[in-house]
Amino acid sequence: MNSIAVEIEMDFPDGVTVRGYERHRGAHVFEVAFATPERCVCPKCKHEGPAQLREKQEMLAIRDLDLLGSPSFWTYQPVLHQCPRCRQRTQVPTPFKRPHVMYTYRFEQCVLEQLVGSSVEDVARRLSISAETVEHILELQLAVERTISPERVITSIGLDELSLKKRHKLYATILSDLTDPEHPQILAVAKGRDRAATEACLAKLTPEQRAQIRSHRTDMSAVYPEVCRARLPNSQLVVDRFHVAKQLGEIVDRVRKKHALTS
Ligand SMILES: [Zn+2]
Repeated sequence: MNSIAVEIEMDFPDGVTVRGYERHRGAHVFEVAFATPERCVCPKCKHEGPAQLREKQEMLAIRDLDLLGSPSFWTYQPVLHQCPRCRQRTQVPTPFKRPHVMYTYRFEQCVLEQLVGSSVEDVARRLSISAETVEHILELQLAVERTISPERVITSIGLDELSLKKRHKLYATILSDLTDPEHPQILAVAKGRDRAATEACLAKLTPEQRAQIRSHRTDMSAVYPEVCRARLPNSQLVVDRFHVAKQLGEIVDRVRKKHALTS
């Protein structure tokens, strides 16, 4: 048999290096290492000094983005710092994920982007994770303080409603930048789907930025177009095929269910 080497170009966050790669049960597994700080502060005695580091023996595996249609995981050895004064050992924070979670920051971002126009269950299925994980990520993302550069030129925006824990009636509103329709970017996320949530999202833009916006695409809720009309003086509502399709999809679903019940 012939064998050839295939090269794939991948982005890794600054400071992350790849030590190895293997396939494991259909997933891509990258062994990574990361840049560690020169100095550390001891959380116990507050002593600050040169880092005294050693790698833990255990390997941790965390989820990263999909690659060529399969999930990819990073494995790494956590790094410990030992305080030279009180001997306390603490884990050095990893630059690519927050503490106590099993996925990278960019995976969180990907989940949030996928939630626009999809249900929690759909995203969970697509990414092979649990619905609870999707909801947990959304909750973490709701707590992220996002700022929008006042220099940023935005001419088109989208407002979408995310529903999590449907039974508990928990909702979120997501504001995205659709200036480049091929690359929508999330600008703000707020709890709720009411007027206050919509106002909170749009308040992240300066009055000049709001005046620059020419078009907005929104979910078919009553509140979003109304608030946009009041806050975006030069913008027109664009009826979005995607949102209409979603609406239609729901109607079809409902019809099917009804049919299934009566037949
Ligand atoms: Zn100490």
